[in-house]
Amino acid sequence: MHLAMVAMDLKPGDEVIIPTVTYIATANAVRYCGATPVLVDVCADTMNIDPADIERKITSNTRGIIPVHLYGHPADMTAVNRIAHKHGLWVVEDAAEAHGAEVNGQKVGTLGTCATFSFFGNKIITTGEGGMVTTDDDALAAKLRLFRGQGMDPKRRYWFPVIGYNYRMTNIQAAIGLAQMEGIEKALADRERLAKWYDEALSELRDQIILPVQASWAKQVYWMYNVFLRDGDANRRDHVMHHLDEDGIETRPVFYPMHILPPYLQDSSYPVADLWSQRGINLPTHLDLTRDDVDRIARSLAGILCKK
Ligand SMILES: *Cc1c(COP(=O)(O)O)cnc(C)c1O
Repeated sequence: MHLAMVAMDLKPGDEVIIPTVTYIATANAVRYCGATPVLVDVCADTMNIDPADIERKITSNTRGIIPVHLYGHPADMTAVNRIAHKHGLWVVEDAAEAHGAEVNGQKVGTLGTCATFSFFGNKIITTGEGGMVTTDDDALAAKLRLFRGQGMDPKRRYWFPVIGYNYRMTNIQAAIGLAQMEGIEKALADRERLAKWYDEALSELRDQIILPVQASWAKQVYWMYNVFLRDGDANRRDHVMHHLDEDGIETRPVFYPMHILPPYLQDSSYPVADLWSQRGINLPTHLDLTRDDVDRIARSLAGILCKK
């Protein structure tokens, strides 16, 4: 992500629009260049960047937008690209959590100026650590390669026209990634099956929790299967998670919004993010789960939610 920001020529004083609900790497990549991440609220249904709020946050210093395809559901790229085009901004997709997701039949990673994917151990495709940048722009690809390899001129050994970084992936990691890619269709299908099991097992709890939705134009990939409590705050959510933990079920809270974290702390309120990030839970989403496991998780959840 940092490499993509470098390739966008991001400088101190520049502003980049990002959703406040994301993994912190999105904001950090902007900050590494001395630029300012400008936070935007999210949509309640998918927790993805809210296009209407993007418009409100654009200034003369805005250079680009980083929509994040959060938890595997694509951001509204049609709206984001329309706004970017209108204001002359670049768009870098943060596709770290969404390998294989689609917008109107087009894969994420092909929809912006460029896109970044993560191959960290818990992502849909992994090489342990690492990632990739995708673009169909040859000049941009050359620039990315230049900065990836300490800035060495590809035609003149040990000649460095710029200050680059060592962001190369090892061949060993790349080999693992290629083998992972051979199994991606199955991995995505298995995730979809797991999500269906959850949808069925949790349907009776619909008056208590909100299950994942999918926009009409989207194909999501369920990096994480999330549910949102219909009522309460973070304390209630943490109480529910604690109950599940006592039943041997590991869960995680939905990401805290950037504006409440120390490095990006702000007084401003982001009503949707503030409310719904407190109510979201990542349920176990790994491919060894059986139908029985899913039923047991649903029973445990019902046990705490339906307790008077
Ligand atoms: C995992 C993740 C990243 C960062 O990926 P790393 O490979 O861990 O650096 C960036 N953005 C989002 C939304 C992520 O989930």
